[in-house]
Formats: sequence, structure tokens, C-alpha cells
Amino acid sequence: MKRLIVTSLFFASALAVSAQDVATLRSPDGRLSMSLSCRNSSAQYSVAYDGKTILDNSPLGLKTDVADFSTGLESAAIKVDTVAFNYQSKVLKKSDIKVKATHAVWRLNRNGVPAFDLVIMLKNNDIAFRYEMLRQPAANKGDSTFCATIKDDQTHFNMPTGTTTFLSAQMPGGTGWARTAPSYELPYFADRPTGDNANGAGFIFPCLFKTPNGWALISETGVTSAYCASHLVCENGGSYKIANPIESDYNYNGTSAPGIPLPGCTPWRTITVGTDLAPIAETTIPWDFVQPLYEPSKQYTYGAGTWSWIIGFDESVNYKNQREYIDFTAKMGYASVLVDNWWDTQIGRDSIAALSKYALSKGVSLMLWYNSNGYWNDAPQTPRNIMNNIIARRREMAWMKSIGIRGIKVDFFGSDKQQTMQLYEDILADANDFGLEVIFHGATLPRGWERMYPNFIGSEAVLASENLHFGDDFCRQESYNATLHPLIRNAVASMDYGGVTFNDYFNTANDTTIWGGHRVTSDIFQMAVAVLFQCPLNHLALYPRVTKDNEPWKLEFLKNVPTLWDDIKLIDAYPGKYLILARRHAHTWYVVAINATGAPLKRTLSLPMLKCGITLYSDDTNLKGSMKEIKPSKKSTYEINVPHDGAAILVGKE
Ligand code: CA
Repeated sequence: MKRLIVTSLFFASALAVSAQDVATLRSPDGRLSMSLSCRNSSAQYSVAYDGKTILDNSPLGLKTDVADFSTGLESAAIKVDTVAFNYQSKVLKKSDIKVKATHAVWRLNRNGVPAFDLVIMLKNNDIAFRYEMLRQPAANKGDSTFCATIKDDQTHFNMPTGTTTFLSAQMPGGTGWARTAPSYELPYFADRPTGDNANGAGFIFPCLFKTPNGWALISETGVTSAYCASHLVCENGGSYKIANPIESDYNYNGTSAPGIPLPGCTPWRTITVGTDLAPIAETTIPWDFVQPLYEPSKQYTYGAGTWSWIIGFDESVNYKNQREYIDFTAKMGYASVLVDNWWDTQIGRDSIAALSKYALSKGVSLMLWYNSNGYWNDAPQTPRNIMNNIIARRREMAWMKSIGIRGIKVDFFGSDKQQTMQLYEDILADANDFGLEVIFHGATLPRGWERMYPNFIGSEAVLASENLHFGDDFCRQESYNATLHPLIRNAVASMDYGGVTFNDYFNTANDTTIWGGHRVTSDIFQMAVAVLFQCPLNHLALYPRVTKDNEPWKLEFLKNVPTLWDDIKLIDAYPGKYLILARRHAHTWYVVAINATGAPLKRTLSLPMLKCGITLYSDDTNLKGSMKEIKPSKKSTYEINVPHDGAAILVGKE
């Protein structure tokens, strides 16, 4: 990465606009601004876009065991310059990312002693800021404090009157099925008023708000074992603040209050702002200011894959079915088969080695499921008690490497505590030593991890496709949920959703004779999901026996649809209603439109990027799909008419 310092300015506090107002920082294009002030000995900020308020004045500061750094504060100095650099990634929504930001370091004193620097990055549509805490004089003269515990983060996000919310509640630890909560699997509710605090538990990141003057997506990034993951709580009205993990996470093991060395820093808090939702769908703020934490031990590869569990459930985790999936996966030209829970007892280690050898002979490799447990929930699924212990884990990983396993899916973490962040990081670092890729389920939002940990693939951290198996209610919500994820959850991190099926029912009989939700979305919708949800190694819910009965052009689409993307453009969307999104792989654009409005969605789309070789996949009013090649439009406009629960897809070359 090349960092260029373009300009450098220095303001002493004497140059501040007034005693209260310290500075107004502006994005490189001047449209996004962040005003910093000190009022009543508290540090505050507000955010505006085109001069119109996005966030009202909001307090800053941390309460620690060393001191209360949310009060007694005064502005000491602020230094402002500009940073610009590029970076590349294979696994993100864009492959070549250009970053230009206004960079500020605001020094705050407490009772005349330097307390912390608030480091701020202001891009055209994104703000990232973090606290860099300084060593403090100790009670004994001459000594100083070398560490601190963050008891309460006072960082607020005060939403103006008239804001509505698009939020998913935090699950209190130790609750839910087999005490596995938080599993980060509650639904998002669209366009709710502010003021509710989800029965005291607050809300998971990312949090989307529609303010009267524009959209704001609030999240955090750069979380490692050096801190906890946080969430937002609503104190009253439109006032939201950062909260430490809930005491009962991890079955009450580990502390809720993260510890840091001094000097030391918090993760980045991020705010992505736009008058429409494009800056949110297209943001790269989770990755811009984090760094790879280790070198990849090998060149990791990506692609599509399959998994039997979503249709066949636990019974499908047997030698015969997995071999069938390997054959099918090879036929589709995919990379990976994910073997889910109970493989150790239902297949056995020797047979897994034989399956892995068979898969490799067909150009496919296996991912193996593991329980993260441990001592923090009652989930009985095995293998257990391996991934939580360094000795057992590394021994297991050496065995996996010896039989050619691609990677692991580790489930049931159930905690945002710093101790759990340590476990995530330890699994990732060890897996890299053995050349293994990592997917997390029952897991918190990954916060910048695609760039920080080079063998990290993606996490669930969403009410994912398994719920389509569990019931019709979720099936009826499938299109509604799909209009939300690219604008919220999947906007800030790869999402291991595990969707895309042609089954009418999520069971092996594909009918009502056995348990399994009834799909209501169209086949074209299912194909669109492969484009909508981004994950570099994407396991699809295809069932070989059902899939072979489908029209060849549907399978051709799924054989060719990429899992790695070079660019993204949001065309139009309203979360909870409809979504029209384009992704580019090399020179091919995939434009997908889905509809959850309850009525037909008619649009004339301006798509100048489609120059030749254009194919339109669309649904009729009965959700029956068809495919046709169409001529490039002279005006670059294309009509779509998408029925409720259906989709339209345009594929073409630029
Ligand atoms: Ca799950």
C-alpha cells in the first residue's frame, strides 16, 4: 500500500473557530462534514451532508478504570491532513479500491493532562474514527498507567427527529436454542421509529437509519483480540450509543469490559452517509483503514460450492450422499463441498479421508464443520472441544492438511466478548498455518476480517438460508430479507448465506411428505441471489436430483455466475421493498432486480455499462422464468417488469 500525504495543516486550539467549536472537517469533495466541539467539558461531534444535518450533536469519550474520559475534557490541538492510497483485493465487492480521505488527529486533554487522540478519517461518504488512548500519570508520583479497562463507551449517535430505523436486535447471551445466543439471527425490521431498545438488548451492527436528510449506516471495523465487538443501544428517542457485550454472553465466561494497553486504541467506529443508498451498498469503509495481520501461507482460491445439509439436514451427512454431492459439484465446475455437522460420527475420519481423496481427484475439495464449543452452550453437534483448544486444534488442522481439506466452518460462538474475539483470531491464525480457509457460523459480524485475516472467507451473522428449511414463515419473508442484506449486513462484510435452490420444498422429497419450508420465490429470484449476496466461496443450496430436472439455461447461469467481483453499482432500492443492483466480474456486468412490494415492479433502467452480448432472464406473472438474448439499446435503457417474489437479471459485457 502506498500512502501519500497530500497536504498538511496544523491548527492549535487558539485557531479554533470559538471556545466551543473546534473545527469543521470536510470530505475531499466538501459535501460530507463533521463538526467537532467541546461543550460543558464534554467532547462532541455532529455530521452533515450538503450542509444538512445527518447526526445531531453527539457526545464522545470513554469511561475507564483509569479515569472517566467522557468528562473534564478540553480541546488541546487538532492536526488535519489528507491521505490517498490504493489497495487491491480479490474477495471484496470491489477489486481495485481508491481511498482519499481527510485525516484529523484531535488531541483532548483531561484536567490539563493529555487524555486521548480522536483519529478521524473522512471520505466523501464515510467517516471512521477511533480513540487512541494515552498513558496516564498514576497515583504514585513518577509512575504511569500501562493498561486500561473500558467500562463504558460514551460514543453516541444522535439521530435527528423524524429518523426511522432498519435494525436487528442483539440477542441476550445464554438464551435461545441450546443457549447458543447471541447467534445474530434475528430479523431486521424496516422503517421503525426510533426510541425502542429491543427489550434492553440493543441492536447488532450494522445499523441503518433513514434521517430526514439522508441515509446513515453505522458499524465498526478493525476488531481483533485486542478489543471486544460492540453493539448499539437506544438510550431514549433518537439517541443511540456504543455498548459493551452483554454480561451473559459466552455463558457468563469472560469479561464484558475490554482491556487495552496504554497507549492503545479502540476499533474504528464507522458512519456511511448518502442522500441515496448507493454509497452504503458500495462502501469499502470496513477495509480501507485496516491492514493484513499476517501473510497468507498459500494462495487461497475461491468459487462456488454445494452443501447437503440445507436440503437433506443431518441425515444427509453420510458417505453416500456426500459422494453424490462431490460428483454433482464437479459436474457444475464448482470448487467446494461443505460437509456439515456430525461427520465425525456419521462418516468417520477414515471415510472423510477417502471422500477428500475422491473429491480431489475430481478437482473439488472439502470444507469440514466444527462446533466452537467449549464451555459456552449446550449445542450437542460434533466435532466438539477441538476448535477451542490450541493443542487439539493444531493437531486436527495438521490432519486436515494431510488429507487435503480446503477449510473449516466453525459454529456456535455466541459472544461479542474480547475473549471470543481471541478465539476467532486464534482459529484464523492457526488455520492459516495449515493453509485452511475459514467460515464462521453462529458468529458475530466480521469487522474488516476479509482484509485483516487472508484466509477468512465469510461469516453467517444473518438470519440465513437454514431458516428456509425450518419454516414457511421465513420462506414468505425471503424476498423482503433479500432487499435488506445488500444494504445492511452484506454491505459491510462477506455473508455466508448458503442460498440458491431450485427445490420447491427444503427437503429431499421436494414435497410436503416430510419437514421443510415451502419456497415461494421464483427460480430467477434464486439465480439472482447468487449475484445479490457476496461471499468469495459461496456454498449454494442446490440439490442434485432436483437440479437435473431444470432447464439447461438455468444451470448454465449457475455454472458461470462468479463469486469474485470487481465492481458494484446500486441502481435503485428501498430496503424491505425492492432492490436493483449491478456487480461486475472482469468485463461482464450482472444486473439483478428483486421485488418484495406485493405488486409488480416496473422500471426503465439506464444501463450504459451493457454494451454487447446481453441476456435477459425474467419472470412472467406466474413466476415462470424465461431467458432471451436481447439487442443493446441505443439509449442504453431497458424495461423490466418484476412480479412480487420474482426477479429480473440482465447479463452483458461492457
Ligand atoms: Ca446459524
